[in-house]
Amino acid sequence: MRLHFAAEIVLELVSRRFPGIQKIGAHIAQDKARIDFLSAESLAPVLPALWADAQAMIAADAAIVSAFSDETAERRYWEIAGFARVACGGTHLRRTGEVGRLELRRKNPGKGKERIEIYVHER
Ligand SMILES: [Zn+2]
Repeated sequence: MRLHFAAEIVLELVSRRFPGIQKIGAHIAQDKARIDFLSAESLAPVLPALWADAQAMIAADAAIVSAFSDETAERRYWEIAGFARVACGGTHLRRTGEVGRLELRRKNPGKGKERIEIYVHER
């Protein structure tokens, strides 16, 4: 759940920084998560700023609301007031502070692809 929500925050921040960027894959494993994007541009230069924004969001320990947008269709979302409301059927943390200390690594898995690996650590 910590990795999942860390990935949610990173995805939202990347989408804001690069409007229209295409997510082409995501995977949450036991020890790390990754998100792949279609991008001709390297994400390496913005990684420190992305990390700082994400870690600030975690440090703010903001409340995460999880609710139904459509109960009959079982459509759910998570929301952080003043930040984002994102459709996702997954299970989410209650507060951003539960994510802990974030670590981001950028990989280049192939031409035109950019990968961000996400790790979470205890404080
Ligand atoms: Zn989710």
